[in-house]
Amino acid sequence: MEPVLETAMKQFHRAADQVGLSDQHRELLTSFKTIYRTQFPVEMDDETFRIFEGYRVLHNNARGPTKGGIRYSPHVSMDEVKALAMWMTWKCAVVNVPFGGAKGGVTVDPATLSHNERQNLTRRFTAEIIPIIGPDQDIPAPDMGTGPETMAWMMDTYSMMKGYTIPGVVTGKPVAVGGSEGRFEATGRGLTYVLEEHLSMDGGLQGRTVAVQGFGNVGGVTAKLLRQGGATVQYISDVDTALYHPAGLDTVTAWAHVQQGGSLKTWLEQPGVEADVVDGADVLSADVDVLVPAAVESVLTEYNADKVRARLVLEGANGPTTAEADEILNDRGITVIPDILANAGGVTVSYFEWVQARQYMQWSEEQVNAELRRLMVNAYRTVVSRCPIGSHGDCTQREAAQWVGIERVVEAIEHRGIYP
Ligand code: GLU
Repeated sequence: MEPVLETAMKQFHRAADQVGLSDQHRELLTSFKTIYRTQFPVEMDDETFRIFEGYRVLHNNARGPTKGGIRYSPHVSMDEVKALAMWMTWKCAVVNVPFGGAKGGVTVDPATLSHNERQNLTRRFTAEIIPIIGPDQDIPAPDMGTGPETMAWMMDTYSMMKGYTIPGVVTGKPVAVGGSEGRFEATGRGLTYVLEEHLSMDGGLQGRTVAVQGFGNVGGVTAKLLRQGGATVQYISDVDTALYHPAGLDTVTAWAHVQQGGSLKTWLEQPGVEADVVDGADVLSADVDVLVPAAVESVLTEYNADKVRARLVLEGANGPTTAEADEILNDRGITVIPDILANAGGVTVSYFEWVQARQYMQWSEEQVNAELRRLMVNAYRTVVSRCPIGSHGDCTQREAAQWVGIERVVEAIEHRGIYP
């Protein structure tokens, strides 16, 4: 078993022990409803073809159609997709949207493909998984290495094969083809709402120092919104550059630059940018109030968890903290707001997008953000009511979020019964 699936399973079993889950439910919730693996050819620009491997895993659909992103990364594997699918089940239950969990991915570095090759790969992969996706069945969305453009191609391919336009088959689409206002920034905005709620009794965001690891759709938007909300974002990093400024980095222009196709390295070369280059590892051990790991999984491990100096870890990525690191952070009195709560803003607005698509309605961005805030704050309060902040030793917010997720899924299973 790969470390990431081991982490997901350990987290589940620990919470299952704590809530006294029956062996049967335990077995059901560690199995996967549907596992799809496909190897398929894609025509390259030079007219040769290459074989790619892709996956779509549906973990559990007791609460509704399954939901989860599609990842393009060279590290995609069956175990990674399984872990991510399982986390989606808990995440959807924690924010209480009527979905089960799924995930998909293709093992590819999308940066090595041309625009045309990415489109060919996306359309062929969509055709491969057509038997298991659908607006009532399983609804993909963006994840690492994919985005609105990928979702437009998926929606178009699915619609072409069915013979009419079906916007509800994927979420995270461009607004012009049935996407939702606010979806693009939803994960970062959800993280910001959770942090504001967490700090609301304690002086708020103003002047808080923050380190953000990862500068994609999650880290970049979070760093921008936190600065706009009054926080001092001292550290940011992407795959090859980590930057520091004691008075706070201008993450608003940095994110605008990255969205234009730049990187933190090229942003640093722009006139007027004030930042020092530091080591990537310095971001995780930064002496700040809040650490936001928003890059990839398993970055906080037994080897570096003792170096974390932030008092709060807000998980932007899925699975950034291994089970061993979790224990070390908890022993050290560091609060971790877990991924399945903190980064649930993306799937929450995906739910709004799906509802809008089914009703052929369009909500305003204000409406989307207000509903997003309501669901994120509710989820935060539900989790904290089960394990108050500062209960180190007795429980963690990750465990509490897992309890809520497991209990809601089990409740649905019990109401539905086992077919036939
Ligand atoms: N990929 C995102 C996640 O990990 C969003 C999933 C979705 O919107 O369905 O939560």
